[in-house]
Amino acid sequence: MKQKIGLMGGTFDPIHVGHLLTAEAVREQFGLHRVIFIPAAQPPHKQGRKVAPAYARLLMTEMAVAGNPHFTVSRIELQRSGPSYSVDTLRQLQDEHGHEAEFYFITGADAINELSTWHEAESLLGSCHFIAATRQGCALDLERLRREFGPELVSSHIHELPTPELEISSTDIRQRVSEGRSIKYLVTTEAEAYIYKEGLYS
Ligand code: NAP
Repeated sequence: MKQKIGLMGGTFDPIHVGHLLTAEAVREQFGLHRVIFIPAAQPPHKQGRKVAPAYARLLMTEMAVAGNPHFTVSRIELQRSGPSYSVDTLRQLQDEHGHEAEFYFITGADAINELSTWHEAESLLGSCHFIAATRQGCALDLERLRREFGPELVSSHIHELPTPELEISSTDIRQRVSEGRSIKYLVTTEAEAYIYKEGLYS
């Protein structure tokens, strides 16, 4: 039987409980054997915005997933130089796991709506499944995706999962820290302590 592996790709600046709940919901719903969290080293579309150092985002992600035997964290994008193109990550993982593994790339619907701007998007979409986490005000733009990639590829490779828990967002958490407001219960206790200790987002 094929190994079904979830790839939770994100900047995780910082990782929050919405990400964790989403990964667990996708794992259950799609019968995944495990989920690999992959913090992006240099998010391709964020060359301009200030992002917390990669090692800090990695460490927070590692602390957050500890305790879930189905979750692991990969440093694959941190060990590669240049922009973190998902297609390169997928190829590397396919080489490592052999083609018996089936990959499910999990990320926010708003990121997936922009898929046509990603590096080698068509090849990427043809080689793995995408799980789009949707929430209020952030729906999957299926019309656009069908126009750009064709209806067959979209219906067979892009799947939607409503995730109301993603009302929590990294943007809001960074804003709260900068305003001195509480982030308790939005991130794990360890991530909260680390953010204050390192003075991130303030
Ligand atoms: P983003 O633009 O920061 O996030 C877009 C939205 O998706 C935000 O609302 C974000 O919420 C949410 N989100 C991000 N990761 C998520 C996840 N794993 N599960 C659920 N929601 C998630 O997107 P990003 O984090 O930089 O990029 C997402 C992934 O797409 C990364 O793996 C990135 O490398 C990949 N990507 C690749 C290319 C390329 O190959 N050229 C281009 C763009 C993106 P939060 O802010 O709360 O996380």
